[in-house]
Order: sequence, then C-alpha cells, then structure tokens
Amino acid sequence: MVEQVLVEIDERRLLRRLDELAQRGTLPGGGIYRALYTPAWVAATELVTAWCKDAGLLTRRDQVGNVWGRMEGSRGGRAIVTGSHIDTVRGGGALDGGLGVVAGVEAVASLVARFGRPNRILECVAICEEEGSRFNTNFWGARAIADRLEPDEASRARDAEGVTLADAMRSVGLDPATAAQAVRRDIDTFVELHIEQGPILDESGGRLGVVRVIAGTAHLEVTVRGQADHAGAAAMERRRDALLGAAAMTLRVAELAREFGPPAVATVGTIAVEPAQVNVVPGLARFTVDARHSDNARRLELVAEIEKACKVIGRERELGVEVRTLRDRPPVSLNERTTDVLRRAARTAGIEPREMNSGAGHDTQILTAAAHTAMLFVPSIGGRSHRADEATAAEDVVLGARVLATSLHELAYT
Ligand SMILES: [Zn+2]
Repeated sequence: MVEQVLVEIDERRLLRRLDELAQRGTLPGGGIYRALYTPAWVAATELVTAWCKDAGLLTRRDQVGNVWGRMEGSRGGRAIVTGSHIDTVRGGGALDGGLGVVAGVEAVASLVARFGRPNRILECVAICEEEGSRFNTNFWGARAIADRLEPDEASRARDAEGVTLADAMRSVGLDPATAAQAVRRDIDTFVELHIEQGPILDESGGRLGVVRVIAGTAHLEVTVRGQADHAGAAAMERRRDALLGAAAMTLRVAELAREFGPPAVATVGTIAVEPAQVNVVPGLARFTVDARHSDNARRLELVAEIEKACKVIGRERELGVEVRTLRDRPPVSLNERTTDVLRRAARTAGIEPREMNSGAGHDTQILTAAAHTAMLFVPSIGGRSHRADEATAAEDVVLGARVLATSLHELAYT
C-alpha cells in the first residue's frame, strides 16, 4: 500500500471559482439555469477552458462539447480522469455538478503545480450534460464518452420549443454527425466529487461519503383510458373518469414505495389529461412513474407491483390501462479498488468516510461501462438540492477537493 500525502489546494481560488461559475446562468428570480448548448452553458465551458489553460493543461472541446484539460504522463497508458457535469436543472444551485467540475480543475492544477508531470495521463473534464433538463434525453455527455449514444438521437431529441438537439449542437459550432467520435476507450479511472443531494451525511454529522452503489431507475408511462363525458349531464355513477383512476394509481405508487421501505422510492412526476377542458370528464390520463432501488431484484419487484396495482385499479373502475417502459437502468456498483483509494485519502485527511448508496443518478454510473469508477460525496445542508438554496459548508467543499486531489495523486503519481 502506498503512503499517501494530503494534497493542499488553493481554497480561496476554489471557492471564488465556484462563485464565478455560478454567475453563468443566474436566473432573475434566483437559482441557476445552465442548459445544454445555451449561451450560459457556452460561457461556463469557456470559463473552465480558461482555468485549464491557466493550469498549463492541454484543453480540448470534444464532439459533443465536453471540455477536457489534460496533462500527459511520463509513462503514457490509460488516463486518470476526474470531473462532473456543467449543466444544471432549471432553478438549480451552484454545486450540483459544478462542485465536481471546479474541484476537478483545482485538484489537477494543484497536483501539476506541486508535483509536475504525472506518471499517468491526468485529465479533468466538464461533462456537457447530465440532468436532462432541456432535451428529453440525459447523460448525453457521459454516454458519448462511453459509446452509449443511440443512432439519430440528436435529430430525434427536442426541447420544449421544438429545437432538435442536432440544431442546438450546430448553434454552438458542433457537428451532430460526429457526436459518436467523442467516445474514449483509453480511460483507466474516473473519479467524481459530488454533493450528496440527500440528508444522510448532514443528519449524521458525516463529512465525507464513498458511494458503493448507484440506484437503478425505471421510468414508466401509464396511459389510463376511460370515457370523456359532459361534466353537467353525465351522472356520477355512470362515469369512467380517467383522471380519478390515475389519481388512485398515483397514491398507490407512493404507498407501495413506502411499503417496500428505504431505499425504495417512487415518484409520479408528470400527468396530462385529455381533452383537458373545464367542463369535460377526462377521457384519458397519462402519467409517468420514476421508481428506484439500489438492489436490482427489489427494484424489479417494485416495478412489477406498481404495474399490477395500476391494472387492478383500472379493472375496478372499468378503465383501460397500458404501462410502457420508457427507461430501465439497473443499479451500478462502483469499483472497489478505486473506492479504496478514496477511503484512504479521506483517512489521510483525518475523516472516516461513510459507506453510502446513491439514490440520484450520476455520470459515474454511465462511465462505469468505460472505466474503473469511484465517487466521493460531501454533505448537502438540509439535504437540499436541485433548488436555489442548495448548499454545502465551505470547509466541506475544501475537504472534498483536498481528498479528491489526494486520491488523484495516488492514482496518477505513484
Ligand atoms: Zn449532479
């Protein structure tokens, strides 16, 4: 086992740069919106590029807009990479994704400044998109790296205004026809620092977590068909109201997740009715379910129970029910040896890290297909995330960056 040295980083510059990044995409009412291929996104990627250049790294924007900063290693071989996503949800905070991007640049910059050329190729990356907040697709950046893009995806995915992902790429000088060339087959290890986005570390007084498993997700679309009717003339007992059926199903979905117990979660996040008129009984209702669990067998059971419950409720109310799977991602286990490097780095900093599962999805889960991966969490105050008041104590931000730099030192310099 290698003796680790705790790598110092420039704390003031780290915190200042987090603020600078947060100014790219600030909304008038508070919060940040830095959606893929928008002017705010472009400004953020330019900022990261400038920081990488400042650190003496070779910078490059790949075919989908991921920004890379690279220091060649004296032994060559496969690269050691750190980073996170630069896009945000609408009205999000400064740290989701941003922390891993800024701390990644800072960690690499500190290592290069202090120790010079690494043995292994060392890179930081700002991944272009993870959240799925603009287009009906997500993990666009990490999937490009991991060779998981679907053919023609860029011409099929659209934003709320009807702009295709392909046109949005062209608007920032990228060629959608070359998107698949962003693939990397030469990454050895990917390490991501991220805020927890949940309350576990904050409530337990923990300062660092290492992620063992990222929960699997299923997205379902449930269509409920009844009969549209006159809101005045149709008697209550004769109605086949699709929305009332969907409402009963929604309540049952949440109840089922509670019956399964943690870490099972299930959410009905969207619902639409037809014909959607104030004086018409809804003839059709369509809603989505997001169901997650870190144990795949339990996740599949939960999904099966949800589907069954919707059908039973449909039968009771004489409603037609169709359940379609939109997305099915099994849980992902991160690399044990790489995680162990993070554990030891945390201990070098005097902290025993908590072993955790992540309910939220992360770029790391996609990159697990392409590299050895590990993930480090710092606490989210009050478990708050995906909102403007998302926060982590400054000393935990600094600690996370220091432990990240220490891990990268072991991975790239020894
Ligand atoms: Zn994130």
